[in-house]
Amino acid sequence: MVNWVCFDCRWAGRRSGSVTDVACPRCGESAVFLGTKIEVPPKSKPSDWDALRDWYYSTARAVERRRYAETVRRRHDLERKIRDLTALPDNEGRASLVKRLRSELETLQHDV
Ligand SMILES: [Zn+2]
Repeated sequence: MVNWVCFDCRWAGRRSGSVTDVACPRCGESAVFLGTKIEVPPKSKPSDWDALRDWYYSTARAVERRRYAETVRRRHDLERKIRDLTALPDNEGRASLVKRLRSELETLQHDV
């Protein structure tokens, strides 16, 4: 069982680990997945809830920033490889590699 919370309502609920989306029963907004290791503060301690919310969003933002930076790096890497390969004389193996790299690049552009 894992914890889901709504920071606005200070609601916490436990769901099976296979559940991927939980709506807060109070406000109907999407609850936030906390996992099993993070302790949920008692409802009577709003400052602890505020601290948990701050912690959660700063962590989520850090993860997002890191993932974005990795995607950009990977994209530049692919672009350079494609440029290098297309500068070389044509051959079949190279053409199919370029095709594969281009489709990978396409996927990355959709992610960002
Ligand atoms: Zn709520």
